[in-house]
Amino acid sequence: MAGNGDRPKVGILALQGDFREHCQVFDELGVEAVEVRRHEDLEGLAGVVVPGGESTTIGRMMVESGLLDGIRSYFYKGGPVWGTCAGMVLAASATTGPRQPLLGLMNALVERNGFGRQVHSFEADLDVEGFDAPFTGVFIRAPFFEDVGPGVEVLSEIDGRVVAARGENILVTAFHPELTDDRRFHEYFLREVCGIERSQ
Ligand code: GLN
Repeated sequence: MAGNGDRPKVGILALQGDFREHCQVFDELGVEAVEVRRHEDLEGLAGVVVPGGESTTIGRMMVESGLLDGIRSYFYKGGPVWGTCAGMVLAASATTGPRQPLLGLMNALVERNGFGRQVHSFEADLDVEGFDAPFTGVFIRAPFFEDVGPGVEVLSEIDGRVVAARGENILVTAFHPELTDDRRFHEYFLREVCGIERSQ
């Protein structure tokens, strides 16, 4: 997919939240990171990240910018998507909380702020399917999937709460890999979900 020497391009939804941190990591990994603010920015992308932030704010801004439909159609045409934290909330098909705009890309019921409120930021060493050593997840007002439907593969859970999962062309993590030095989830997304083989 990376093609003839061109750097593959991954788009980071840049309406609100910690998109800059993701951009830096992808850049470090030899991938061009593009900030996505308009529908047109989705063209030619090998993957799209919906970052952490405030899912209600990002959702409202996606509606206003046309990116709610834009990312949905990118996804349903097979485009790879990764949602972290607020992005995981937005990827779900339903929430246990009040109505809010959702992308609905994954057959899952999400509990926003599932681990508690603002004070409930924590780190946890996670066993992740396919990883040979634990991954330290940084959780900040993190969601979890309470239930998942067919087509969703659970990659990691804490006491039965799903904190990482994937579908054919989607990955979600309830925590923030972009805030640690461990690049395994960014690499996993590029390799396993986007199909990008890196040469370095
Ligand atoms: N709980 C927040 C929300 O639902 C997400 C927090 C985060 O992205 N760090 O929007």
